[in-house]
Amino acid sequence: MDLVCPLCNGIKDISINCPECLGKMKDNGPIVNFLDDYSPYLSNDITQLVDGVPHDQCVHLYRCEKCRYDERVKVNRVRM
Ligand SMILES: [Zn+2]
Ligand SMILES: [Zn+2]
Repeated sequence: MDLVCPLCNGIKDISINCPECLGKMKDNGPIVNFLDDYSPYLSNDITQLVDGVPHDQCVHLYRCEKCRYDERVKVNRVRM
């Protein structure tokens, strides 16, 4: 059995409202993608340590489409 992120695998969607303007926040994907962009010299292991994310969670970056407010949302992985 594998632990997978339900959002990354399209199993479910989480809708979040912006705390600033109550607009709809959009999933921009797992934060690891962004860290890779900014720190290409880091291995995945180190990146996970730096970010402090347990391996049974996936952190997604949500961004408000109206005011650009962004927030990290921890998603619990599920067994498949
Ligand atoms: Zn994910
Ligand atoms: Zn907003």
